[in-house]
Amino acid sequence: MLSLQNIYHARNRIQSHVVRTPLVACPSLSSKSRQVRLKLETTQDTGAFKLRGATNAILSLDPSALEAGVVCASTGNHGRAVATAAARVGAKATICMSNLVPQNKVQAIKALGADVRIIGKSQDEAQVEVQRLVVEDRMSEIPPFDHADVIAGQGTVGLELMEDWSDIDTVLVPVSGGGLIAGVALAVKSVNFNIKVIGISMERGAAMDASLQRGRPVEVPEEPSLADSLGGGIGLQNEYTLGVVQELVDEVILLKEEQIASGMQFLYREHGMVVEGAGAVGIPVIQENLSQRLGENIAVVVSGRNVDLKTFQSVLDGELPFGA
Ligand SMILES: *Cc1c(COP(=O)(O)O)cnc(C)c1O
Repeated sequence: MLSLQNIYHARNRIQSHVVRTPLVACPSLSSKSRQVRLKLETTQDTGAFKLRGATNAILSLDPSALEAGVVCASTGNHGRAVATAAARVGAKATICMSNLVPQNKVQAIKALGADVRIIGKSQDEAQVEVQRLVVEDRMSEIPPFDHADVIAGQGTVGLELMEDWSDIDTVLVPVSGGGLIAGVALAVKSVNFNIKVIGISMERGAAMDASLQRGRPVEVPEEPSLADSLGGGIGLQNEYTLGVVQELVDEVILLKEEQIASGMQFLYREHGMVVEGAGAVGIPVIQENLSQRLGENIAVVVSGRNVDLKTFQSVLDGELPFGA
């Protein structure tokens, strides 16, 4: 299984390809008894941490697999990361998407150098095409979270936190499929098991939380949310992330849309940063003291910045674009 060593190997592999992101003070959430710092994955190339895992998975392929190219079905941050990581090592990336994906997203992925294959009317049909390309064209699928090399790559966020802040006692991490939190938890708990790792999802469609409650992977209906990057399931055949989260994550907290919006507003107001909903979920947990486990030295992983301007503007205007 995965260990701290896999994460160190990932770091050696990816360090010349990804940004070592800064950990900055957050004075307005800090006090005499509590220090809060922000881990800015918003400054990662492609605007989200996913470049770490995708780069590690692609660099771990053998030369013949690299030659055949990589494939995935994501149009969001994972798709951008796969396209970018592949282009950097000279491999071909194919991103499969349904004909419902808006043209601007299609263009954005093409601009990163990937082949785009438009197929079918749903994400599921796009995923069937991925499997076909894996079988018939011998491409390697780069999954968004449930893959050892992806988790190890995301875990480099945790290594950097430990190096930059030896007194850290709490880490707040956004959760969807759980690749990020599994990697971070493995990294920090291997060094100090007392560090609390707290996951945060939105109430609307929290597949990891539902799966933890049931003790097995379950599907939840998908609903539109400000934290769109946290949508989607954990995979009914989940192999890695659910087990690691069950073992190492102390708590998962669910947020309402207005709490996510307030996190985005805060980061803009106090730090001048544009952060997507998924990236802002740690903030309300501190603002509203939503956990008993918060310690004195709290790091918030601000996981990404990719939000469209219309959505962001409406959040700043105090509206909830997807309802309350
Ligand atoms: C993918 C993503 C997440 C969730 O990561 P998982 O590994 O799926 O849990 C959080 N924030 C952003 C910005 C993302 O793109």
